[in-house]
Parts: sequence; structure tokens; C-alpha cells
Amino acid sequence: MNGRRGLLIILSSPSGAGKSTLAKRLRAWDPSIIFSVSATTRDARPGEVDGDDYHFMTESEFKKAVSHGDMLEHAHVFGNFYGSPKGPVRDAIIDGQDVLFDIDWQGAQQITNSELGLHTLSIFLLPPSIAELKRRLEARGQDGADVIDRRMQKSWDEISHWGSYDFVLVNEDLDKTEAQLKSIITATRLRRTQQPGLLNHVRALQAEFEEGDA
Ligand code: GDP
Ligand code: ADP
Repeated sequence: MNGRRGLLIILSSPSGAGKSTLAKRLRAWDPSIIFSVSATTRDARPGEVDGDDYHFMTESEFKKAVSHGDMLEHAHVFGNFYGSPKGPVRDAIIDGQDVLFDIDWQGAQQITNSELGLHTLSIFLLPPSIAELKRRLEARGQDGADVIDRRMQKSWDEISHWGSYDFVLVNEDLDKTEAQLKSIITATRLRRTQQPGLLNHVRALQAEFEEGDA
């Protein structure tokens, strides 16, 4: 507990633009960032670990969690349900830790418009081109042609919401985008409102000043 409320860092983009890759790099850069492991009703991809990449659930388990109020936000994306479990987020922010979300525009909107007084930082990733987006989805090699087609058809839906995010980055060069993300997070953490400890520091400066040592 450091007296500060954690920041909710939201990454959105059309499928294949690089969210998961960049989220992994950010977690390696600063292991104190808690990754919000989403719940989903979609099937696990080869190599995905339950509880680490996603909490894989049946539709009835998911609906029960929503009806119990266990999701901070949830949405229907590409024919499946996705949601961010509330408990880990609440614990992290009370503890002053930042939480990273890889979620779509609907989830981003629910979190940023929520009346819970959350501190949010939202970042949208654009692909360099639609052709490159398709190339990346194919190169990832984890989805069949029909799933890739469905994601490509929905890509404009997601891109059309770019204007509601705090920051927008074109993810052309991965290292450059990673550096830009780190700069944005570092700068946001230095906002006055993110540093409640400053008040004590300024009071100490004032006391020292008034003792006449200036
Ligand atoms: P990928 O983005 O192509 O890797 O495919 P996924 O199946 O992992 O995710 C599909 C979409 O669902 C992406 O836009 C994710 O950002 C979004 N998504 C993942 N988890 C959540 C969540 O908890 N809430 C919401 N609203 N969207 C999510
Ligand atoms: P998302 O999570 O947004 O669906 P991923 O992070 O899975 O996207 O990235 C999709 C594919 O594109 C992966 O194979 C990843 O290695 C690759 N990729 C991500 N960013 C870049 C980039 N800047 N340049 C080239 N390939 C990239």
C-alpha cells in the first residue's frame, strides 16, 4: 500500500495488431504491473494456459459470473463472451498496483465511463495497413482461415473507435511501439494525481522553508 490508487492501463486494437505481444513486453519490463486475466468462452489456442492467458469458461459459467456481479466489464466479441473479473482488479488498485487490460472497445468504454472513480489510461494500437494486419493474423498461425476472415471483417468496427482513446500508436516497428508505450506509462505515473505522496513532500519542503533555512 503506497497511498496511491492503481492505474488501469487499457490496450485495444483490431485482432492481430499486436496487443498480446506488447502486453507481454510491458509485463517483462515492469513485473509489478498486474495483468488482468480475462474470462472467455472461446476455445483455448494451442499453447494457451488456463488461468494465465485466459480463464476458459463455459457459457453458463460465464453468465453466472456476470449475474453475480463478478465482472468489471464484459462483452460479446467474435461470437464469444469475454469479461474482466472484478476481484483481482479491486485488490490491485487498493494496493496501489497498476493493472493492464487487453480488451476490446466495448470493455474499454465500460471501464472508462464507470462511476467507480477509476484512474484509467487508454491506448489504441493501429496497424500500419489492413494488408499487414491480415499478414500478422496469418503469420500468428493460430486461427483457421474462417476465423481470420471473421476477425478481418470486424477489424473496422474496432478501428472506428480509435478516437475515444487517450493515446493512439501505429504499431509498425515493435521495438518503437514498446518504447512509446513505456514512455506513456512512465509519464502518466508522474501525473500529480497519481502521486499522493507528493503532498507530504511539499509539506516537508514548506516546514523547512518556514524554519528560515532558505
Ligand atoms: P486476439 O485479439 O486475436 O488475440 O483474439 P482473442 O480471442 O484473444 O481476443 C478477441 C478480442 O476480445 C480482442 O479484441 C480482445 O482485446 C478482446 N478481449 C479479450 N478479453 C476481453 C475482456 O475481458 N473484455 C472485453 N471487453 N474484451 C476482451
Ligand atoms: P493481438 O493480441 O492484437 O491479436 P498479437 O500480439 O497476437 O495481436 O500479434 C499478432 C501477430 O503479429 C503475432 O504473430 C505477433 O508476433 C505479430 N506482431 C505484433 N506486432 C508486430 C510488429 N510491430 N511487426 C511485426 N509483427 C508484429
